[in-house]
Amino acid sequence: MATTLHPAKFGPYGGQFVPETLMPALAELEAAFVAAQNDLDFQQEFNKLLATFVGRPTPLTHVRRLSEQLGGAQVYLKREDLAHTGAHKINNALGQALLVKRMGKQRIVAETGAGQHGVASATAAALLGLDCVVYMGEVDIARQEPNVFRMKLLGAEVRPVSSGTRTLKDAINEAIRDWVTNVADTHYLLGSALGPHPYPTMVREFQSVIGREAREQILLETGRLPDTVIACVGGGSNAIGVFSGFVNDDSVELIGVEAGGSGIASGKHAARFGDPARARVGVIHGTRTYVLQDEDGQIAETHSVSAGLDYAAIGPEHALLRDTERAFYTSATDGEALAAFGLLCRIEGIIPALESSHAVAEAVRRAPTMGKDQVILVNLSGRGDKDLNTVISEMGRQ
Ligand SMILES: *Cc1c(COP(=O)(O)O)cnc(C)c1O
Repeated sequence: MATTLHPAKFGPYGGQFVPETLMPALAELEAAFVAAQNDLDFQQEFNKLLATFVGRPTPLTHVRRLSEQLGGAQVYLKREDLAHTGAHKINNALGQALLVKRMGKQRIVAETGAGQHGVASATAAALLGLDCVVYMGEVDIARQEPNVFRMKLLGAEVRPVSSGTRTLKDAINEAIRDWVTNVADTHYLLGSALGPHPYPTMVREFQSVIGREAREQILLETGRLPDTVIACVGGGSNAIGVFSGFVNDDSVELIGVEAGGSGIASGKHAARFGDPARARVGVIHGTRTYVLQDEDGQIAETHSVSAGLDYAAIGPEHALLRDTERAFYTSATDGEALAAFGLLCRIEGIIPALESSHAVAEAVRRAPTMGKDQVILVNLSGRGDKDLNTVISEMGRQ
């Protein structure tokens, strides 16, 4: 049986840019993943946890009042906000944690920015009896206190990172350093469709359940495929998960929404595709992809009101989807996301994550330009409870 996945690259993007000492661990991971994909017992165990622990399938909701108000396309939400721990991240964390058991390892390390992936990792570790260390920048620890407390309650150790800008990219550096040192018994549980092969492919496969369910649900509900599928793109895992269900349906337009922050011209954003002057192809955290860089080629500082979209690089598969024009990418500003957030709260009774609000903002822009018989599917990647402090202080500012 084959033990490697193809391709390791997405056109010119992706690959494995890691220290020599990590190559055996990547090969072991790839072999374990390929074997698990072909193992009915593993698939059954994963699917059972998705059903009985995560609460899948997550529903598809037709947001009638929003659609009516926009006066065009019918908008449907895929409700990843209703998954256990409040976002799609648990799908991937559980899949990788099951692989860790299979590889006979006992310890996971993870990075986290806002804390959502840290909480998902700590949750999976608690469920499966694994030791869990989460690296988190000191700045993020200060602004995401409730999630730090959650991770500790779940039995994880949260290690503050004081290097660099003391945010997500520094936490990733430290997690990789730990992994290199302890690779014999430790797995790096990466939280998005990023990093060296096989991570981008593996994370896509664990998140593809979103697209499979959504395709079946929308066909059942409307009798047709959607015209447009919209998802927000940080590293790109929720987007690649939902896109994977429709990528072979040529009639379905795929739209990724990056963080426009204070606007592209301000330089304060995380729109890797949206700012060709500053985003160049480079190598970051083990993969070749688009990276926002400053004039010296250093990783640029990014800004977004949503911590989950606030990262300088985008997953390598998205870079290829964009080059081949199978998917299109746009951005929504902090203000547009906050407006969409408020709208969904008030007229649909759903408090979305600020990340997901970027995808809703694009639906708000597009729906009025489409016919009433057309369909937009938005992947609502998470719920907004974690963002209430941010929203309160942003509203105070306006
Ligand atoms: C982390 C996060 C994101 C961004 O990550 P992707 O890998 O791009 O999906 C989006 N939405 C929510 C709710 C998140 O927690």
